[in-house]
Amino acid sequence: MKAVVFEEHGETNVLSYKDVEVPKVGPNDVLVKVKAAGANYNDIWARRGLPGLKIILPHVSGSDAAGVIEEVGNEVDKIKPGDEVIVHPSLSCRSCAACTNGQEFFCRDFRIWGFQTGPLDGGHSEYVRVPAVNVVPKPANLPWEEAGSLALVLMTVWRMLVTRARIRPGDNVLIWGGVGGLGTIAIQVCRLFNAYPIAVVSSDEKAGRAIELGAAYAINRTSQDVAKEVAGITERRGVEIVFEHVGAATFPTSVRSLKYGGSLVTCGATSGFEAITDIRFLWNKQLNFYGSHMASKAEFLDALRFVESGQIGPVIHSVLPLKDVAEGQRIMENNEVVGKIAYVPDGA
Ligand code: NAP
Repeated sequence: MKAVVFEEHGETNVLSYKDVEVPKVGPNDVLVKVKAAGANYNDIWARRGLPGLKIILPHVSGSDAAGVIEEVGNEVDKIKPGDEVIVHPSLSCRSCAACTNGQEFFCRDFRIWGFQTGPLDGGHSEYVRVPAVNVVPKPANLPWEEAGSLALVLMTVWRMLVTRARIRPGDNVLIWGGVGGLGTIAIQVCRLFNAYPIAVVSSDEKAGRAIELGAAYAINRTSQDVAKEVAGITERRGVEIVFEHVGAATFPTSVRSLKYGGSLVTCGATSGFEAITDIRFLWNKQLNFYGSHMASKAEFLDALRFVESGQIGPVIHSVLPLKDVAEGQRIMENNEVVGKIAYVPDGA
């Protein structure tokens, strides 16, 4: 089968589209014929290499995929060939206290599939093997490219806003990267809870897209002062929630933009890990800082119900052939993306 592989870290020229073996299923695994796979920022982190994180080489990235069950292991009884599924990309032991308490992300064996797994074990392939517990039924209303690029951002946003920051009706929510992969879902989750998404983006065109997607306000960070705009929109009170994933470049503005008692929730640091915090704001304004990482399968299934009902919909930037993963990564690295990029294998 074909897959997009890298054997050393570097720029996109280390990616090659080549033949690798179809994975063999173990007793509790399923083999999925991929109809579409998604692009995520962790594909880029893995390809570049991250200090302190072991990326197993040769590596196939891809933490999102959807497809049709081709084969099941001999212990698998609830899934059968022909079923249409989405991969839940959080791998864990499923038997420790954390896993049995719906907190798989605290399991000592927790791994993000397609990022921390390998060799050659990710979604940018024609076939993927995952544990049977890591697939969920594909919502019938979703086309393959949407189903294949949705899971990771959907569940991450759900946990960030619903479980961690406890979004409530009427909240103002400042969303960095308002039309990125996470941002497009965050806007819709805010609307689902009758909250007011304030999207930050880097062009007027993206600002227009954010408003179309449901943002109450859009701030162009290249021509406007974000903190000043937030002060104007909220009549100097600040926002109840800041949705963070940019890190060093935005953290001071995020903290300044919070209202008294407000909550910052973060899942990433695209621009750098070491962010400056004026901790006087933390105690004086009694702020809450929440970290968040992926989500439990239960949280993913909760969020999917609103996809099935049509209240949250994936936004597709482009659909590319699987061999063009390098082009997808270029689009993401240049901040051009609106929503998600999906990759489709030949003949899928
Ligand atoms: P994405 O689709 O590329 O969107 C990120 C957006 O961030 C960009 O569109 C860009 O929007 C904005 N941005 C980038 N650099 C910026 C800067 N210096 N200042 C302000 N805004 C900036 O990526 P994504 O899928 O949403 O993921 C975003 C981050 O979250 C990545 O670091 C990813 O690894 C992380 N993440 C973590 C988890 C987790 O569970 N821990 C899950 C998913 C993602 P504009 O240029 O329009 O402002």
